[in-house]
Amino acid sequence: MQYPSINVYLNKLTQNVSLAKKICDAHEIEIIGVTKGFCGHPGIAEAYVKGGVSGLADSRIKNLKKLGCFNVPRYLLRIPMLSEAADVVKYADVSLNSELETIRTLGREAVLQSKRHKIILMLELGDIREGVLIEDVLDYVQAISEIKGIKLVGIGANLSCFGGVIPDENNLGLLAQKAEQIENKFKIKLEIVSGGSTSSFHLIKQGKMPARINQLRMGEIFIQGTGLNVHSQVFQLQAEIIEVKSKPSAPTGDIGLDAFFRKPVFEDRGIRKKALLAVGKQDVDPDHIRPCDSDLEVIGASGDHLILDIESSSKDYRVGDIIDFDLNYVSTLNLMTSEYVHKVMIY
Ligand SMILES: *Cc1c(COP(=O)(O)O)cnc(C)c1O
Repeated sequence: MQYPSINVYLNKLTQNVSLAKKICDAHEIEIIGVTKGFCGHPGIAEAYVKGGVSGLADSRIKNLKKLGCFNVPRYLLRIPMLSEAADVVKYADVSLNSELETIRTLGREAVLQSKRHKIILMLELGDIREGVLIEDVLDYVQAISEIKGIKLVGIGANLSCFGGVIPDENNLGLLAQKAEQIENKFKIKLEIVSGGSTSSFHLIKQGKMPARINQLRMGEIFIQGTGLNVHSQVFQLQAEIIEVKSKPSAPTGDIGLDAFFRKPVFEDRGIRKKALLAVGKQDVDPDHIRPCDSDLEVIGASGDHLILDIESSSKDYRVGDIIDFDLNYVSTLNLMTSEYVHKVMIY
């Protein structure tokens, strides 16, 4: 084994997807599995596909490129850059859009590649990130209908990402209402009404999801088990102890700046037994990891070192021992992004 490593429990992930799918199926909502939380790792995406997702989605083309081996459509989540239009058409079956200039460029690329590129028009429902304003939606649909190489397959929205707006019957109700308006006015059928991410899932359970919503794009719910009451520890960090010593809890000498340009503050708790681990801020923010042994305390980190207070633990930790940590979405993403962290698939 090589450390630090991030262990991925694939069966737990598949079970999380299956469970959410059962609930979504009952409401005729399809699940698009969002892979950006683990950098589009194909071995992990496979667990989503096994669980029954209807598509895979990522915000980065570089990740989507790796996901061509599955027999499900690929969605680009982030509004495309003009500069990546050719790759968007090549590697994404569907992209989420809000700018006519970009959609026109995608259309030109699609014609060049002899394809019809599918798009979902994103609506601004209050979270003030991407999306066209409600009053402009019909004009956009009109303009899109005139663009060669493009097929408008649906509308969608994103909430609780920037503004922290909670999805509810009102904002998603508006999305559903707009879908009907578009269908009536333009005599078209919108296959997809995409009602957001993990944060929209609670509406299904409460019976408050507007009927017209038929797709959710979700990642966090599977990675963290959020709101599912299932497996939460799908991803775990393991790091190796490189030093164990009893040391003062406060530094000695004049205090300048630490490695990250901050003036550190220490509480003097006397001499404490501490462990130094070979993982650091270059890999993960120590505020977003939690030792599985709850008697261990994360004191802090520098670029390549993590420092734990192990004084309260009954275990006799030694150099070479491996410490396990539970992760959240942020630390999972950071560890998956670090090329110094070994990715270990556990079947
Ligand atoms: C990240 C993202 C999602 C998925 O969010 P989760 O919280 O992981 O479910 C869905 N839609 C868009 C546009 C996103 O950027």
